[in-house]
Amino acid sequence: MFVSDNLSINEKNHLVIGKSDTVKLAEKYGTPLYVLDDDLFRKNCRIYKQAIEKFYEGNGLALYASKALCCIHVCKTAAEEGLGLDVVSGGELYTAIKAGFPMDKVYFHGNNKTPDEIELAVKSGVSHIIVDNIYELEKINETAKHEGVIQKIMFRIKPGIDAHTHDFIRTGQIDSKFGVALENGEAFEIIKHAMKLENVKVDGVHCHIGSQIFDIDPFCLAAEVMMNFIGDLKDKLGLEIEKLNLGGGFGIKYVESDDPIPYDKYIQSVSEVIKSTASKRNVKVPFILMEPGRSISAPAGITLYTVGGIKDIKNVRKYVSVDGGMGDNPRYILYGSKYSAVAANHASDPYDEVVTVAGKCCESGDIILENEKLQKLNVGDTLAVLATGAYNYSMASNYNRIPRPAIVAVSDGNDKIIVKRETYDDIIMNDVE
Ligand SMILES: *Cc1c(COP(=O)(O)O)cnc(C)c1O
Repeated sequence: MFVSDNLSINEKNHLVIGKSDTVKLAEKYGTPLYVLDDDLFRKNCRIYKQAIEKFYEGNGLALYASKALCCIHVCKTAAEEGLGLDVVSGGELYTAIKAGFPMDKVYFHGNNKTPDEIELAVKSGVSHIIVDNIYELEKINETAKHEGVIQKIMFRIKPGIDAHTHDFIRTGQIDSKFGVALENGEAFEIIKHAMKLENVKVDGVHCHIGSQIFDIDPFCLAAEVMMNFIGDLKDKLGLEIEKLNLGGGFGIKYVESDDPIPYDKYIQSVSEVIKSTASKRNVKVPFILMEPGRSISAPAGITLYTVGGIKDIKNVRKYVSVDGGMGDNPRYILYGSKYSAVAANHASDPYDEVVTVAGKCCESGDIILENEKLQKLNVGDTLAVLATGAYNYSMASNYNRIPRPAIVAVSDGNDKIIVKRETYDDIIMNDVE
């Protein structure tokens, strides 16, 4: 009945995540509160790891795309599960360093890495930098030379695949700020140029065709396009590509109608395409990387709010306001994203009202659920919004100077704070009189 099978209802009619009563968590830690089910997070990591072992002879590595949810605890968990890490900024890289993440499994992304970020990446010994453009290619080479190292690099390629998803998060096509294009020869030329540089080693190619994708086909097509490109690089430049990174983007269930693909099925299908294209093009089967973010962390997280004012505007709509909103979950205001919610303190009640759950920020678009069926809510109820483990905390802001919520991790019925709730003093911390 819930979008994620780690959720259940106990004898008190409370929503339970893993083995933890969400009403008790709300009482103990206050609201709004992010709750992360560590056990589900780990289970999701293992799906990728096991599928690579089963369908690709273990010749690959899943990198957790940390932008989905990045903090020291989560980086440590991903490391313990044997995953690598995809970071896209100096801040994410710094978090990984502080978490003691093995740097030889860290891949550094971004479409406009600053010189400082490049220096931090090269100095800390990240495994690969995924190069987006010619400017940073030169800068990486220069920095590596200065440090006396040879930096392994991959190139972010736009394979020209239209993955049917929201426009703002569709990135595989030519009109994208990310990467270099295949169809106009840009990708080929930059790699040819990179081969002449002394302090970088071209080790792989990368693509990421979008996010919240529900079909296997665009991934298979991307894999085929990339393998043919690898074939072209060998034929025309004599370059043997060792690694193929196919990015992330695997869809998850936010609402009942979402129908995600089983992730191991995706890996099975893509593995077949890679192997068959490798043999057709007479190139070796590459080491594969993939970068799941949302599909690992989103289902493992929920957000708990306390219901405040309720406005039933006759013949218009019913607003239920909660003590958080776009500050902790900006996905509705950014993308019109949909969520499911449960009245955590009377979880089995029927869904017989249509309501709009609004936040407390000074924006009319500050909405969490719009005109969705929900249980009858009363002032003081605990409302759980589901599948908020990705792109919520990581995209949170202090708009209206509202402190960001804490994150509590639960595992086997135990709970602990992994990110503290911000205080008003945190809010003014950097203000200078
Ligand atoms: C955002 C992103 C990911 C993760 O995407 P999900 O949809 O969260 O799986 C992986 N790789 C790159 C390059 C990205 O930009």
